[in-house]
Amino acid sequence: MKDKENEKYCGNCSYHNAYEYPSKVFCTYRLVKGLNPVVSTLWRCENWTPAMDKCFCIEDAKKQSRST
Ligand code: SF4
Ligand SMILES: [Zn+2]
Repeated sequence: MKDKENEKYCGNCSYHNAYEYPSKVFCTYRLVKGLNPVVSTLWRCENWTPAMDKCFCIEDAKKQSRST
């Protein structure tokens, strides 16, 4: 079964924080690693970890990318 919960994006990773909503997020994991912490909401890296809190980053980023 494929549903939204199985999608892995920065926008539903536990390390993401609001940045340039909704297209970009601020990643605290990358910050700690000394990498550029600003990443695309619909990107992800190998350190993806499921977020505990629900948010609308992915939904809104997808809406935005469809409308532009
Ligand atoms: S860059 Fe990796 S660790 Fe950071 S928010 Fe995206 S998936 Fe999570
Ligand atoms: Zn979010």
